[in-house]
Amino acid sequence: MKEAYLYEKLPEGGVRCQLCSHYCRIQPNRRGICHVRECRGDRLVTLVYDRVVSMQGDPIEKKPFFHFLPGTDSLSIATVGCNFRCEFCQNYSISQYPQEHNDIPGTPVTPEEIVDIAAARGFRSISYTYTEPTVFFELAYDTGVLARRRGLRNNFVSNGFMTPRAIEKMSDFLDAANIDLKSFSDEFYRKYCGGRLEPVLDSIRRLHEAGIWLEVTTLVIPGLNSEADELHRLAAFLADVDPRIPWHVSAFHPDYHMTDRPRTSIRHLEQAVTAGQEAGLRYIYFGNTPGHRSESTFCPHCGQLLVERRGFAVIKNRLVKPVCPDCRGEIDIILD
Ligand code: SF4
Repeated sequence: MKEAYLYEKLPEGGVRCQLCSHYCRIQPNRRGICHVRECRGDRLVTLVYDRVVSMQGDPIEKKPFFHFLPGTDSLSIATVGCNFRCEFCQNYSISQYPQEHNDIPGTPVTPEEIVDIAAARGFRSISYTYTEPTVFFELAYDTGVLARRRGLRNNFVSNGFMTPRAIEKMSDFLDAANIDLKSFSDEFYRKYCGGRLEPVLDSIRRLHEAGIWLEVTTLVIPGLNSEADELHRLAAFLADVDPRIPWHVSAFHPDYHMTDRPRTSIRHLEQAVTAGQEAGLRYIYFGNTPGHRSESTFCPHCGQLLVERRGFAVIKNRLVKPVCPDCRGEIDIILD
């Protein structure tokens, strides 16, 4: 049991969590929307600090990160819990576990042990992923600060619903974030995710301003966020923040509570690529379509192949520095 980092005590009793944009007001012995933070007396505590539910090595491309340490493996950790309720969640068995089972499983692993394991096995980074890392912030923070001291990098794979205060504190250790921008419709966020759009857009701007390397993923769901107009508005937003942000447009498959829709067709993904290109985005990738040419990185200046990928594997990486070997144009990528 560990006291939470970002909250305030309320004069009328209870606490207000300041970690994500739900800003839950929590009375004693009650939990927040994520079900992993509880008010005990006049303190807010995290229930997942010592409950790691997943820890394994993954290619960094699986997160996905295509422009951050390409070709390296990352120690990936998670606890249960999420502040969203996405009907199409692909990790619902752990993200929604506390709500659905009224239990918080996991193994006690200290930040020191996590960093020792990452260093001993030669990982180049630690990924806070699978569920929403914002809700296991204290574990991520303590691990991330130690990891950075040991020369390891840190990344979040997140829904971006964190508060400005949380982002400020994350800057102490976070090197990169892949933010899920699920839609450009507030109604979509409210209806299918239990969230809101504007705080996510705000986080993308703030993470970028904080100098944290940013990639963005959009799961394209047929009939929900696949219309050309929405994809154009979404791409235009990203290009306005920075056209160098890699955009991963990923294929939906029926899962969890959303089993009444077909898989995303290549045509829908191509429509997203067109929207991204017209907005001026430099790097656009397909996701969940193994073997497709749009998984590889091409020079935005001369069009030559730079990093060839198949699925999560890097087959060939021609970059030894962030410069195209053919035209000498600058490439926006963080190499190991
Ligand atoms: S992290 Fe978000 S959902 Fe969880 S208690 Fe805090 S404000 Fe509520």
